Amino acid sequence: MSSKCTKCNQRSVIFQKYSGMRLCRKHFIEDVERKIKLTIRKEANIAKNDTIAVALSGGKDSSVLLYVLHKTLKERPDIRIVAITVDEGIEGYRSHTVQSAAILAQNMGIEHIVVSFEQEFGKSLDELISGERVQGACTYCGVLRKSLLNRIARNIGATKLATGHNLDDEAQTIFLNHIRGDVERLVRLAPTRELDGLILRSKPLRKIPEKEVALYAFLNDLPVDYSECPYAGEAMRGEVRDVLNDLEVNHPGTKYSILSGFDKMVQILAKEYTQTNMSGCQICGEPCNSNTCQACKILGRNIIEY
Ligand code: SF4
Ligand SMILES: [Zn+2]
Ligand SMILES: [Zn+2]
Repeated sequence: MSSKCTKCNQRSVIFQKYSGMRLCRKHFIEDVERKIKLTIRKEANIAKNDTIAVALSGGKDSSVLLYVLHKTLKERPDIRIVAITVDEGIEGYRSHTVQSAAILAQNMGIEHIVVSFEQEFGKSLDELISGERVQGACTYCGVLRKSLLNRIARNIGATKLATGHNLDDEAQTIFLNHIRGDVERLVRLAPTRELDGLILRSKPLRKIPEKEVALYAFLNDLPVDYSECPYAGEAMRGEVRDVLNDLEVNHPGTKYSILSGFDKMVQILAKEYTQTNMSGCQICGEPCNSNTCQACKILGRNIIEY
């Protein structure tokens, strides 16, 4: 079979089974950027004078996100991009990725804020989880990081908060919520409107397969850290990832179908599961659906001590 680019006859760097196309370096980069721009236009609603906070871990996804957002929006002086890196405090792992994040932001001349669990919550993730809690590390980590990112983004006046979730992440999360029968959480994956105190999230890479994000980072020589978090591997997500990868091999386009089916379904479900305005957590004041937010519950905070 020819290994020439379908569009220009140059040597191809990838075969996209789902599209049937082989693409050379130039056309692959164009294809990725076109899809990201389309997602930004359709879903992120970038407006005049927006401040976009970008969650930058230093891994491939968030690095590609920052790089493409900068490339796309650098001619717009009214748009401010600020990278925020959260150092959860994971020994032997996070310090490397924080360093990669700093190099990338510096190379592009982008404002960069680094915050840590230790400074903000008084404990690192390593200290927060021990014994049985190690199993649920990702849950603790995710809740606290989300809360912190939202707070920092709000404090700097951000109007959008962009994260590097790719197509694989999105398809896995949709599938997981189906398996768990958690329709409410499924609907919350695609927030339809701004809620008080909660910065509107946007996922410009949601239509880019994980492998293509990695290839894009490699071809653009981004200073990405590829080490893996020692806590990685939420058991069920791992199983779902394997199932979806197998399905994708035998039925190319499966991950895209899951995402586009979800996008259609969520419009209908959103009418049933309307997003109610959130009240503030009675302890820390962050927006939440009950009296106490998840972060405060995890931290075991109580109103008197706080
Ligand atoms: S793999 Fe889990 S514990 Fe590690 S950084 Fe990601 S969410 Fe946090
Ligand atoms: Zn080509
Ligand atoms: Zn709280």
